[in-house]
Amino acid sequence: MQNYVKMEYPRNKDVIMRYTPGHFITPHSHVNYYIDFCDTKARMKEARAAGESLAELFLASDIIDTILCLNGMEVVGSYMANKLTEAGILSKNSHKTMYITSPEYNVNDQIMFRDNNKHMIKNKKVLILIDSATTGGTLKSALDSVKFYMGDIVGIAAVFSVATQIESIPIRALFTTRDLPDYASYSQDSCTLCKSGIPVDAICNGFGYSTI
Ligand SMILES: [Zn+2]
Repeated sequence: MQNYVKMEYPRNKDVIMRYTPGHFITPHSHVNYYIDFCDTKARMKEARAAGESLAELFLASDIIDTILCLNGMEVVGSYMANKLTEAGILSKNSHKTMYITSPEYNVNDQIMFRDNNKHMIKNKKVLILIDSATTGGTLKSALDSVKFYMGDIVGIAAVFSVATQIESIPIRALFTTRDLPDYASYSQDSCTLCKSGIPVDAICNGFGYSTI
């Protein structure tokens, strides 16, 4: 799993997508590439580059009150918020600064916001930030949750995304399947790799991977 191929984002070479081919199980699908954004989330230089590059995709935004970070994207989200603020994107929050938050998952894997956090969502303009969107399952849960808590979704940002939109909301991403044309995602019961008897290399989620 250490033999990653690195791909640089053309507009900022400090944004790096690391990937390795194989057979991987994600929370919602089986995929033929593992894409690792661990260093994007944890290395300051890479997180800043990713956050600032993502911010550039949203410079035409009107108001952003909250960046809701999924899969450990809070550091990237902070740099994104900083760049957006520098560029003059406003927030209506009483303290005139964006919220950067992440959801809590209960034992049933449902997203919830505690009473002391839900003011960051309710009646707020919320931008959702995710590392990698494949089936859209994680994003769908987040979209539903923001609606339950009466937030207004103003955009979705991803470092890598297979889909270009979900529920008619565009997903703006730094890397797409144009960069990885043979990327394939299968539902658990119709995985071509499983049917071919190819062993699974690792189980993956937003935290990372565990080899089998
Ligand atoms: Zn499979």
